[in-house]
Amino acid sequence: MSTLLEVKRMETFYGKIQSVRGVDFTVKQGEIVALLGANGAGKSTILKTISGLIRPAQGSIALMGEDLTKKEPHTIVEMGVVHVPEGRRVFGGLAVTENLELGFFIKKRDKAKLAQNLDMVFQMFPRLAERRKQMAGTLSGGEQQMLATGRALMSEPKLLMLDEPSMGLAPIVVIDIMKIIKQINQQRGTTILLVEQNAKAALKLAHRGYVLETGSITMEDSAGNLLADDNVVKAYLGVH
Ligand code: ATP
Repeated sequence: MSTLLEVKRMETFYGKIQSVRGVDFTVKQGEIVALLGANGAGKSTILKTISGLIRPAQGSIALMGEDLTKKEPHTIVEMGVVHVPEGRRVFGGLAVTENLELGFFIKKRDKAKLAQNLDMVFQMFPRLAERRKQMAGTLSGGEQQMLATGRALMSEPKLLMLDEPSMGLAPIVVIDIMKIIKQINQQRGTTILLVEQNAKAALKLAHRGYVLETGSITMEDSAGNLLADDNVVKAYLGVH
């Protein structure tokens, strides 16, 4: 498998406070990679740095060999890296379909392609299809997560970065969302970087995982090995 994303010695600061301390990791084409760690470990900051929302102080971030660290966030999206932020951020006053249309910026005038991608998202998320005219602000948390993920898929990303998709959702809804993430990876071949505090749920569908502690990676392994290691589960992953 070829490398899609390669992060080397990434260091990110908020003012004088260092949140990411020399992080190295890779995501290969077709993989689901989980980035795990407790509150404040630096997971969201890593995603924000990759998307160009924060500049790294040091290090490199390469997408298929091309450096992202000096690119604008919209260019990074156009290159195929799409970030679904923590808290989903759908446009509450717009309908489901309108939210999805906002995610479609490739070949802007290609109406046939827009219709085709809307169809693809509605097939992937039948609940959104049933609610296509409903205002996004009135959707449940799980449905809003589906909408934010569907909106990201509208631009056919090469790398989909999901920040805590399970946050605030009931366990049964978490299972639904995780199934959909797996389906996106298997059916569309989309590579996924998944940030989660719900480590067990994430490792059940990821191929590999990295554990982050106060801004540094302390462990990396296959998802199976991380899940099977009692010490890892106790020390880092909590009991779910
Ligand atoms: P969570 O799951 O709680 O979001 P996380 O692993 O994603 O945790 P980050 O949000 O990346 O962690 O935060 C890493 C560190 O950076 C924390 O110590 C946090 O307080 C700090 N931090 C995050 N955002 C800012 C900001 N805008 N200004 C200053 N410090 C920040």
